[in-house]
Amino acid sequence: MLSYRHAFHAGNHADVLKHLVEILVLEYLVQKAGKPLRYIDTHAGPGTYDLGSSFASKNREFDTGISRLWERSDLPRPLVNYVDHVRALNPGGELQHYPGSPALAAKILHAGHRLQLFELHPDDAGRLQRWAGRDPRIKVRHSDGFAALKAVLPPVEKRALVMIDPPYEVKTDYDTAVDALQLASRKFATGVYVLWYPLLNRGLVSAMLSKLRAMSVKHLLAELPVMPAAEQGMYGSGVFVINPPWLLQQQLQECLPYLQDVLASPDAERFRLLANGD
Ligand code: SAM
Repeated sequence: MLSYRHAFHAGNHADVLKHLVEILVLEYLVQKAGKPLRYIDTHAGPGTYDLGSSFASKNREFDTGISRLWERSDLPRPLVNYVDHVRALNPGGELQHYPGSPALAAKILHAGHRLQLFELHPDDAGRLQRWAGRDPRIKVRHSDGFAALKAVLPPVEKRALVMIDPPYEVKTDYDTAVDALQLASRKFATGVYVLWYPLLNRGLVSAMLSKLRAMSVKHLLAELPVMPAAEQGMYGSGVFVINPPWLLQQQLQECLPYLQDVLASPDAERFRLLANGD
């Protein structure tokens, strides 16, 4: 079943959290000048999003995500940086395009770095390949990113961010994500891993988080509820980061209260930022 298209959701509150974290991790990793780095994206999507397309404009989810940050003059520094990355795709100044996780990585990574992108939906895999064009750093695979992890780890560079952003269209994605991270962190213990998840079905999410938090790995968990918890429908999202860069907790501590003020309704639960032992 492949009905999920991320273009319907581009630039929403969940993308803000996920892409903020991606940028902070990658900008930290590229600081080691001259050291090779690999970016692996198991669920890459189409690359970039046209916010005027029929997909994105159907529910205009970006209106309650990136659009709320676009004109703000009081953004915390990491969010200024995030919005600047989106501005780079909108040179006219009007918000018309939104970068996906591969486009953000391609902008941050240097010439000697590598991007390995997996996308299962045939249309989005085609778009991704067209977006990647002839960039010699990028390899696109129209295949299952969860299954591919086993073969691509550890990367020859020995330094990598693995971005895992499943649609959770099928309930098995929750267990598959745990299995993938357990296997991956055994094969490549020093890698940085970012797993995105929705806040929607408490049972499945909390079972997944209990298993992830029980892994003997250094981690950071950040959750941003934007609506009151409901029986149905996504009311926020979270990211689980393995081997987070040392500054990430502080940077998110600076941004999450701001994002809560700007993106969440007053009756939403408070954000959570938890490290090992919290
Ligand atoms: N990371 C993207 C971004 O930031 O723009 C969005 C990804 S979207 C949440 C999830 C994507 O995973 C969809 O494009 C979907 O077609 C794709 N997908 C679903 N199952 C997959 C799998 N097993 N392997 C690779 N891609 C998959």
